[in-house]
Amino acid sequence: MRILITGGAGFIGSHIVDHYVAAGDEVIVIDSLITGCKDNIADHLRSGNIKFIERDVCRFDTIADEIDVIMHLASPASPFDYLRYPIETMRTLSLGTYNMLELSRQKSAKFLLASTSEVYGDPEEHPQKEDYWGNVNPVGPRAVYDEGKRFAEALTAAYSREHNVETTIVRIFNTYGERMKEEDGRVIPTFINQALKNEPLTIFGDGKQTRSFCYISDMVDALAGSVKIKYGHPINVGNPKEYTMLEVADIVKKLCLSTSGLEFLPLPENDPKRRKPDISKAQEVLGWTPKVDLNAGLIRTIEWFRRKDD
Ligand code: NAD
Repeated sequence: MRILITGGAGFIGSHIVDHYVAAGDEVIVIDSLITGCKDNIADHLRSGNIKFIERDVCRFDTIADEIDVIMHLASPASPFDYLRYPIETMRTLSLGTYNMLELSRQKSAKFLLASTSEVYGDPEEHPQKEDYWGNVNPVGPRAVYDEGKRFAEALTAAYSREHNVETTIVRIFNTYGERMKEEDGRVIPTFINQALKNEPLTIFGDGKQTRSFCYISDMVDALAGSVKIKYGHPINVGNPKEYTMLEVADIVKKLCLSTSGLEFLPLPENDPKRRKPDISKAQEVLGWTPKVDLNAGLIRTIEWFRRKDD
């Protein structure tokens, strides 16, 4: 199989690249490196296992190679990144997604959209099921990402209806693991790096808001499984076990053997209070359930951050 992965030099994308290279598939990566990094795929670049195209998906139209599958992950993903690159994020999710859907149509390739739990916004239903339409402020600062992904989903659904492109939309919930950037602003890498330096862990609001965290190997299994099935509707993928930020801070501090205290800061605008996937659809159509619990995933992630700075 020949698979094109946009955003393949990013956190999740690079683990997907590892997966398909290990399976003996032909991998092409398109990445502008706006938030990703060549180090994430350095082994494959050295061994010539993959074809790497450094390019913005907004400026990409076609390629000579035949393609069986396009996994479209390109997009700034952390709030820190999409607030720093608001227009680039909206261009990528609109024009970039259009270009990749056109390429899927040309090549008769299956198209997978890496969507997000952010399409649910600050949800009024809990846990979130795929048929919940969300609660998003269309003009708030986070809208560049939330509405951008909602547009990308709508465009993907339109290509499926109008052009019979075989599509899958996966709504990814918080995922963590090795290769996250220390400065990316998401809670797990932030807490780990603060704890390893014995600096105060930053808590926004009172720390009672909840999130659920999926370890990267479980996410790779779910995304690779989603490519194999024919299912045109969105699928939630994430770990449903819910933790408050205070609980996560406590676990990270213990695992890092840290003496850090806590620092409380105001909650950012439109920050969701609760986020937890209902994964019954993924269990039914993918036969998938996350296997790695937070403790085990954090031990591996902390070990990676420790070694990185050696
Ligand atoms: P990341 O920032 O590490 O990776 C994104 C990659 O896309 C980077 O390598 C970046 O350089 C590339 N990219 C961005 N815009 C591009 C463009 N216009 N052209 C080409 N390349 C471009 O983020 P990630 O956490 O690995 O997220 C990957 C995908 O998964 C994103 O689409 C994101 O929205 C989605 N997602 C991630 C999470 C999570 O918890 N990590 C949660 C929900 C959704």
